[in-house]
This record gives sequence, structure tokens and C-alpha cells, in this order.
Amino acid sequence: MITVIGSINMDIVVETTVFPKQGETVFGRGFHTVPGGKGANQAVAVARLGSHVHMVGALGQDAFGNELRTILQQEKIDDTFVRTTETATGIANITLFDNDNRIIVVPGANADVSRESIDAARTLIAKSDLVVMQLEIPQDTVEYALSVCEELHTRVLLNPAPAENFKAEWMERVAYFTPNETECADIFGVDVESALERFPNQLIVTLGADGARYYDGTQHVFVKGFKTKAVDTTGAGDTFNGALAHALTTNQSLSEAVEFANVAASLSVEKFGAQGGMPQQEAVLKRLG
Ligand code: ADP
Repeated sequence: MITVIGSINMDIVVETTVFPKQGETVFGRGFHTVPGGKGANQAVAVARLGSHVHMVGALGQDAFGNELRTILQQEKIDDTFVRTTETATGIANITLFDNDNRIIVVPGANADVSRESIDAARTLIAKSDLVVMQLEIPQDTVEYALSVCEELHTRVLLNPAPAENFKAEWMERVAYFTPNETECADIFGVDVESALERFPNQLIVTLGADGARYYDGTQHVFVKGFKTKAVDTTGAGDTFNGALAHALTTNQSLSEAVEFANVAASLSVEKFGAQGGMPQQEAVLKRLG
């Protein structure tokens, strides 16, 4: 059983061909809302693959909160520890125009995921095979959750996104650490090889279309990206993390788990939306051959 502690957002997407100047009003071309937040996305990725998953998070007492809770339940994610708080549900305001995206994230209720939220979930954390976290909830909560996981002997997979919220001293407390290339450079500097060699079988770096890599203690292991036609790479990393967590808790070795996650993530880029393309287990097994 996997517990994801993290963010739940509604992405509010506006498409426009003109961007308003200060004080100006323009007509846009399209509007839609899409469920997101790295925490929720990774929980959905886990659930689609058939693992039992609990979410620890927070939603506002508003229409987006209700909608996002229903989606979690439809995805068979246990939402017992998703609190409803007084703060508005977290949103990402995304403006798409030409090739230029502008995004404003308002954490809202995600900022209410607190030490109390972690304490409330202690029994759950103790029973979990793996806790999965990202960095879209308060840093203090992540730090506290790491100490509770340590105390309860539950392994942690940490996806350090956004990287600026990461603290170097956390490395020794996590079993798996999964930055993408940019996050890896932000955290460890440009020398990826030596970072990987410092953290064998622990640091797994995703490389977009090129796949993923890690160091196994003797050699650098490259898992080549599965060649496919990508239509939307949003959520590729979330699918990779959810799938890696699923694989690592179903008796797969690290090398098998990275292969599995790489193939799952390649399927996710073939469809629109972060959660839209997340595959079921059969599709991953079929592509793995
Ligand atoms: P993030 O989405 O966090 O930036 P990456 O871009 O590194 O992360 O993508 C995560 C994983 O998704 C990669 O390791 C790879 O397995 C898969 N992936 C991403 N882009 C593609 C692509 N164009 N084709 C095939 N697989 C992809």
C-alpha cells in the first residue's frame, strides 16, 4: 500500500491569441478546467496501475474542492486523510497563447497540509510500504513527514519538484529521489555523474524523451526513452513517479521498476492532460513485451 502526501489543484486553463495589456480586456479562444497538483497526479498514476493508494492532502470547501474529491474517489484513491479546510482549493491559473505559457499557482488549501495532517495519518504511514512526496506542500510539513517516516520505518520516494523547496540534508532520509534533469542540476550542480555516484540506487534522474538514468554502485545505468509520438508531456514525471512507486512495492528490482516507470510515462505523453494519459497496468505490460 502506498501513501501519497501532497498537493491537489484544479488547473484553470485559458487559451488566447492575444494577451491583454495593462488595463485591457480581450476575448479568449477557449477555457477548461483540468484536475492536477503533483500529489494528486502521482496518486492517480499509482491507482490506475492497480496499487492501493491513500492520499494525505487538503481541499477547500468550494466547488473545485468537491469536484476534486469526487475525482479522487472515482480513481479509487482513499481520501480519508484529505482534509476540508477553510482556505480555497489550490489552483494553477494557466494562460496558453502561441508557444508561451504563463502560469500562476495559488497553493490555497495545499498550504494547510500541516504537521497535524501527518500526525493524523501516523497509523496509515506505519502500514504503508512506501510514502511518496513532492514539494508543493509546506517545507516544514515535508520535513516533519520525513522524520515521522523515519520513526515508523517507512521508506520514502521524494520527487523534488519544485526544486527550490528542497533541502540537501533530506537526502539521507529518503530511499528514492527522482529529480528531472533541470531539478537535478539545480540541486547538485551540472556534474550529474558525480551526483549519481554519490547516491547509488537512490538517485534516479529522468531525462524526458531520453528516458532515465541512475548509478547501481558499479556502473551507470541508462534506460532509453520509449520512442513515441508525444502530444502532451504534462504529467510525464508524475506518471513516472507513480509507476516507479507501484513497481517498487510489487517486488520489482530497481532496474525493473525504472523500466516499468519509463514505459508507463511514455504512454502518458500520447494523450492530453496530466491525468488524461496515465495508463492502466495492462497497457504498460503490453508495451514492456
Ligand atoms: P518531468 O515531466 O518531471 O519534467 P521528464 O520530462 O524527465 O520529467 O519525463 C519523465 C519521464 O517521462 C521520462 O523519464 C520518460 O520516461 C518519459 N517521457 C517524457 N517525455 C517523453 C517523450 N517525449 N517520449 C517518451 N517518453 C517520455
